Amino acid sequence: MLDTLRRIVQAINAVRNPSEAFSLIVTEVKAALHTDVCSVYMADHSRGELVLMATDGLRPSAVGKVRLKFEQGLTGLAASRTEPINVDDAPAHPAFRYIAATGESPFHGFIGVPIIRRRRVLGVLVAQQREQRKYTADEEAFLVALAAQLAGCINSSEIRQVLARLGDDALSGTLFLEGVASARGLALGEAVVVFPATALAQVPDKDINDPVAEATRFREAVAAELAELQRLGERMRLLLSPGDRALLDAYALLLGSDSLVNGTLERIHAGNWAPGALRATVLEYADIFTEMDDSYLKERSADILDLGQRLLNRLQVEQVVNREYPDNTILMGEEISVSQLLDVPPEKLKGLVSVHGTGTSHVALLARGLSIPAVFGISNLPPGRLNGREVVVDGYTVRACIQPSPALRQEYLRLIDEEAEMSRGLQHLRDLPAETPDGRRVELHANSGLFADIAAARNSGVDGIGLYRSELHFFLRDDFPGEEEQSLVYARVLRIMEPHPVVLRTLDVGGDKSLPYLPINEQNPFLGWRGIRISLDQPDLFKAQLRAMLRAGAEHANLSILFPMISSAGELREALELLRAARSELCDSGLAVEPPRVGIMVEVPSAAYQIDTLIRMVDFASIGTNDLTQYLLAVDRNNDRVAKLYDPLHPAVLGVVRYVVERVQAAGRPVGICGEMAGDPASALLLLAMGADSLSMNLGSVLKIKWMIRSIGYRAAQDLLAEVTTFDDATAIRERANAFLEEHGLSSLLRLAK
Ligand code: PEP
Ligand code: MG
Repeated sequence: MLDTLRRIVQAINAVRNPSEAFSLIVTEVKAALHTDVCSVYMADHSRGELVLMATDGLRPSAVGKVRLKFEQGLTGLAASRTEPINVDDAPAHPAFRYIAATGESPFHGFIGVPIIRRRRVLGVLVAQQREQRKYTADEEAFLVALAAQLAGCINSSEIRQVLARLGDDALSGTLFLEGVASARGLALGEAVVVFPATALAQVPDKDINDPVAEATRFREAVAAELAELQRLGERMRLLLSPGDRALLDAYALLLGSDSLVNGTLERIHAGNWAPGALRATVLEYADIFTEMDDSYLKERSADILDLGQRLLNRLQVEQVVNREYPDNTILMGEEISVSQLLDVPPEKLKGLVSVHGTGTSHVALLARGLSIPAVFGISNLPPGRLNGREVVVDGYTVRACIQPSPALRQEYLRLIDEEAEMSRGLQHLRDLPAETPDGRRVELHANSGLFADIAAARNSGVDGIGLYRSELHFFLRDDFPGEEEQSLVYARVLRIMEPHPVVLRTLDVGGDKSLPYLPINEQNPFLGWRGIRISLDQPDLFKAQLRAMLRAGAEHANLSILFPMISSAGELREALELLRAARSELCDSGLAVEPPRVGIMVEVPSAAYQIDTLIRMVDFASIGTNDLTQYLLAVDRNNDRVAKLYDPLHPAVLGVVRYVVERVQAAGRPVGICGEMAGDPASALLLLAMGADSLSMNLGSVLKIKWMIRSIGYRAAQDLLAEVTTFDDATAIRERANAFLEEHGLSSLLRLAK
């Protein structure tokens, strides 16, 4: 049996897609166990169902049609119990359900083994026997090993694609999709699917009105590509081996061939846009080659895909520039980048939905800054098929609803109104201080980076801008903005907020924020060239930015400068030295500038533990809990697979934050928190209790947190902090803090701040 297992595992690893793996497994298992039926069911979590994906023994027409609710029948039982169910007489079992669609009379012997990855049930592997039969322990172990293998070799996006292909009816009704993180708020709008410029397989279908113009666009792309290949061929003639030159010729031949070009044109004339038509044709064509026995021809499929990609890149260049967005755009995609988000006019962008990403990815921060509801980490989202559909983004329950029914739509419209009313209801707090009833005052600041939210901040009663992410301006451009331009931007921000303080953070790119004109490809970007490390390695760029900030500060007295990602005293010394040099250059040129207030972000654990030394070198500290949490817990803040492990209420994170607050204050300097936790009521409550001087958050949270602070006694909050400090786990801490907020009459705040 071990040999059979090894053989099947090798065969599974060699297949190209889950459908093939499923077919192979059911055939092989049926033979190996000498049983009558083997089937694979996969979980469609969006509908809470198990779908029959492949079978050897049941009616083939049942594939894709038989859908069992989780917990329905013995198959559902294996999924819900997450353990094998092995019974010799299935109809006698209380959980048994007869499924008519399979068209078979009941089977008696039954074994179902769950397919589990990362604690999540992906499906169930089932074997059945017409007569009574108890599968042996060895047979059960064999199926368990196969299920584990299957779980490891298929990924959820592939399964989504299979599910999507199986049932077009899956999208005919309302569809709920659960995410792992969100930006709070509700939105209703039209899906606009975006995709990386390089992913042919992920290009969505899209209806067009003018096939003739679209066909011309495609023909022009083909002509341009042909010309480019010819040029390449000429240029490379001396450099390329004859084999490589033949490849270019083969590409040119393919481009001239009927199948690729005409196939795409046919699809365009049938109403699909050029990239979608190209994708469908290229994949179909590549598949034909892959199926061929001749190994030379088999390999040509890679060439076809590559050529398709080149054509797509050409089509996309114009597409990006010419993209039109509807007035109520819900941006959707596998992964949404900062620049894709910024590409949409702010007044048209109503919501975001993304397969990947978490609540502290920079796109999420930006969404919050702009008060745009978002849901991230929806692993069963089939974005390619959703373009143009109506979508609800529900950032409170962390889900998206595709094609809401009329009743649901009505209900969401009502909730959207209610939410707006709640915000209006808090407006009376605008000009009141964030002060507890027993007299503890906290400054509430806004996180910002765009003009849109600066202007809004001015009118929303914040005490200043606690974090201006200067890099956002850099994302709006095609190359580095010059000193003059930057200076105008910073001066405008300072002027709008005057006399309130504004903390301008120097460039913090790298990590998940890669500028299109400074691409950084690293294996471990969050541990790599990022933040101040880039600035110190590019002193010309850094000094230009510092001079721009200082020049803006010469006209306005509310400037502070903040250095991101400081991890050692040496780094801080270098940054301060460059700041001093920038200032003296300005003074030499005749512009008298005062030394600004300077602070450091405490977001790398080494800085937290060296805070006594670092804080003596600057005027203030700002704790960046987004990064501090990821570095302390070793959890990538952007990885939805580990999003459940990312929690700033982890006792270790709270302990370090508290330590830094105490040490900075012991040195007689102010300390604030500018990570996302500052805008979360339960977390803000504990930060208040720690004695933080200021909390900086997205604008949408400011009045809610002010309401919380004005409703709760400082001493009561300190008692709560003392109590939760004895807890060993984040969930317990959050539950207790939320319960405390409810006891103080703030349940509606929790509802809208979930
Ligand atoms: C942080 O890390 O907490 C922070 C505020 O900075 P950013 O989210 O921009 O990395
Ligand atoms: Mg940070």
